[in-house]
Amino acid sequence: MTYVLVTGGAGYIGSHACKALKLAGYTPVTYDNLVTGWQDAVKFGPFERGELTDRARLDEVFAKYQPAAVMHFAALSQVGEAMSQPGRYWANNVGGSLCLIEAAVHAGCMNFVFSSTCATYGEHDNVVLDEATPQKPLNAYGASKRAVEDILGDFEAAYGLRSVIFRYFNVAGADPEAEVGEFHQPETHLIPLMIQAIRGERAALTVFGTDYDTPDGTCIRDYVHVCDLVDAHVLGLKWLENGKGSRVFNLGTGSGFSVREVIDHSRAVTNQEVPYSVGDRRAGDCTKLVSGSTRASEELGWEPKRSTLEKMIADAWQWHQVGQYER
Ligand code: UDP
Repeated sequence: MTYVLVTGGAGYIGSHACKALKLAGYTPVTYDNLVTGWQDAVKFGPFERGELTDRARLDEVFAKYQPAAVMHFAALSQVGEAMSQPGRYWANNVGGSLCLIEAAVHAGCMNFVFSSTCATYGEHDNVVLDEATPQKPLNAYGASKRAVEDILGDFEAAYGLRSVIFRYFNVAGADPEAEVGEFHQPETHLIPLMIQAIRGERAALTVFGTDYDTPDGTCIRDYVHVCDLVDAHVLGLKWLENGKGSRVFNLGTGSGFSVREVIDHSRAVTNQEVPYSVGDRRAGDCTKLVSGSTRASEELGWEPKRSTLEKMIADAWQWHQVGQYER
């Protein structure tokens, strides 16, 4: 049995990764503190509760399973919160990751797949965002992820730890079989908030700013279906298993959609109006984040098959009818 240690396996992307790993023949071991994750989402392998900063607990889990690799999803990931509580982002995302990386090296587990973010790029005018774009994060979330990328580089130089770093664009959608899905409390992401607003489960959606320098004035993002995203992780794991060297990959489709366009597509998919009002800009938001790289397709053979807005909204909508985890 080939174990993969999946930190954050009880969260949105981690739980989908566990399903993809299981389908690919691996056994995912979820390591999660259940602060933002859900035990109900752990369905595809063993569960070990623990903190990223608890080195003794990590050593125990590495010794128990002797995983072939780590997939590190566990992190705080909200831009707004990162602006108001930066210390939590540095402590959890950087301090926690450092402890995990040290434990992995100590255990001789030298293959590491890391969830980074396009938020590490920050604001660039008329620049194609590829993996060589300078990283100038606008918020502590992006800065904390960039710092972990640096740590991984240093640990490769010192100990030979090999990593695949994925810089995600905007992850959306849910498992089409609705076994797992997106469920944050509180929710801050556009598509689930829109679905909740349509269903009357919250007040109207607020569009954060209509005065950006974009065709309709709202921010543009590159949305990727969560199942496509986790497929890339399995390919990244195989890349490392095949002895290939550390590599950074953007995970985006190259197509950008504005907030207004997402609202328009939702109306078309759900056949219902999206109640929304226009509000101020949200601190820390970039005008436009769209991937300009085809490296993941060319080198990993990644094909994002489900990343149309229609499919992402339809799968999120379906999941929302059934998917509520409970503490
Ligand atoms: N957004 C919005 N209203 C909301 C939540 C998000 O207008 O209630 C916008 C946000 O400003 C950004 C886009 O939707 O331009 C995607 O935001 P999200 O929080 O989903 O992801 P992020 O881009 O911050 O990772």
